[in-house]
Amino acid sequence: MQPDQVLEKILLARGLRHSAPRAVITQELLKLEGHLTAEELHRRIQRRHPRIGLATVYRTLRLLSENGLCRELRLEDGTARFEPGQAEEHHDHLICTRCGCMLEVVDPEIERLQDKLFRKHGFSPQRHHMELYGICRKCRK
Ligand SMILES: [Zn+2]
Ligand SMILES: [Zn+2]
Ligand SMILES: [Zn+2]
Repeated sequence: MQPDQVLEKILLARGLRHSAPRAVITQELLKLEGHLTAEELHRRIQRRHPRIGLATVYRTLRLLSENGLCRELRLEDGTARFEPGQAEEHHDHLICTRCGCMLEVVDPEIERLQDKLFRKHGFSPQRHHMELYGICRKCRK
């Protein structure tokens, strides 16, 4: 099922309409690569849809992340960034504290050790997000 169809189902189940703004915001988010704040996404959308407000963008992003259609990253600097993708497309992040770039990484070994940690403490794993902060290669030069 396409993310857009998934969203439609969720909205219907909650008695919400799949409104045009929600569709626009969802499409725009899914189209983008990367890790945007609600404000950044709002700016992009505004070029073609000046009537969609920031509050609507926020609400839609919340809705998407609550339903597993995007991920909300709460970073150390206090910003919330959103990225498309469902749980099965898991990755973690290396984050540069100078330029703010984010590198997507997955290490099977670390993933395995995290599962081990879950089991050791009697947890059944649901999700995790690993953020490693440092200075990127470009900024180190
Ligand atoms: Zn991971
Ligand atoms: Zn950097
Ligand atoms: Zn990412």
